[in-house]
Amino acid sequence: MLYLDNSATTKILPEVKDAMLPYLMEEFGNPSSKYYSIAENAKSAVKEARHSLASLLGCKDSELIFTSGSTESNNMIIKGVADYYREHGNHIITTKVEHPSVLETCRYLETKGFEVTYLNVDSFGRIDVGELKSAIKDTTILISIIWGNNELGSLNDMGMISTLCEEQNIFLHSDATQVIGKVEINLSDYPGITFLSCSSHKFHGPKGIGATFIKQDQYEILTQITPLLHGGGQEQGIRSGTLAVHNIVGMGKAAELANKHIKSNSQKLTSLENRLVQILQEKFGDHLHFNNDSKNKIPGVISVQFKGINNELLVKKLAPLIAASTGSACSSSKPSHVLAAIGLSIDEVRSTIRFSMSSLVEIEDLEIFKRL
Ligand code: PMP
Repeated sequence: MLYLDNSATTKILPEVKDAMLPYLMEEFGNPSSKYYSIAENAKSAVKEARHSLASLLGCKDSELIFTSGSTESNNMIIKGVADYYREHGNHIITTKVEHPSVLETCRYLETKGFEVTYLNVDSFGRIDVGELKSAIKDTTILISIIWGNNELGSLNDMGMISTLCEEQNIFLHSDATQVIGKVEINLSDYPGITFLSCSSHKFHGPKGIGATFIKQDQYEILTQITPLLHGGGQEQGIRSGTLAVHNIVGMGKAAELANKHIKSNSQKLTSLENRLVQILQEKFGDHLHFNNDSKNKIPGVISVQFKGINNELLVKKLAPLIAASTGSACSSSKPSHVLAAIGLSIDEVRSTIRFSMSSLVEIEDLEIFKRL
């Protein structure tokens, strides 16, 4: 079976598994304990993993808070900013094409008296930076914009968005779950980004572990937010709970490998995407319509309509040979809000399939489409 649902999750690399195993077995210490070797070893392993992730993101080690994944990171930032800065304003700006962990958090905050602007997007799912600027009010405390879309792959112009937020002195959060490890990002090039979310299992690390970048000021003090989890004060008091050392080590190894191979992986994903588009076009011609842009996107993600064919039935039919999806795994029961936001009709949404590749796919593997 050819696995082409890598936007949903990816396979753990063997090096990642090997790095994790000792921390599930003999090195089981709690990194918050002291003096004895298995505690100190766990602490060093977490430190090393944090450094690998910081190198991938281009930030300081101390600007990273480990969480259970992007759902938690998104909740932590949006609720944490809303609570902490409530006296400064009650307005949040986001987009119509965010992941549910952003959208549902914003909807929850609306029930608590916050006002949320959901920006429209263009036909590829990108916001207009001019519209973002016009939406800013005196009461705006947070702007949360997805970096790369999980269904279409389109990248927002984070350079311009970051500059705008810096000029306007408004916190900017970006859900970068789908881009980390696939697109080169150096947070030092985006001084307007205050918060960023990522999840390890999207770049060949384990599930249930992610991180939040929280920017430090010139005195090395983290931007203040209200913690989501109160407790023993781990992770600089921002995220309490005993650290999941094995998962953190796995995420660190996956980050190290992603960083090392990011250029070649990205080139490979682009070649895979081009080849798949070519094969599909040769085979299905006019029966297809591609929803995604071909540029400024996460390489290796294709969103395609098979005209007149029900996507659920097609995904089911493909399943013995090819694993694909109708869109986001997190909202697979409902028609995609992302595709609706780019203006697709319900019939077009219901005929769309997403193929998402990883660097573990070989170009020859795609020949399987010729057998359909
Ligand atoms: N944001 C985006 C863009 C995603 O694609 C996902 C995962 N589908 C998440 C957030 C949530 O990540 P997790 O399920 O790892 O918490």
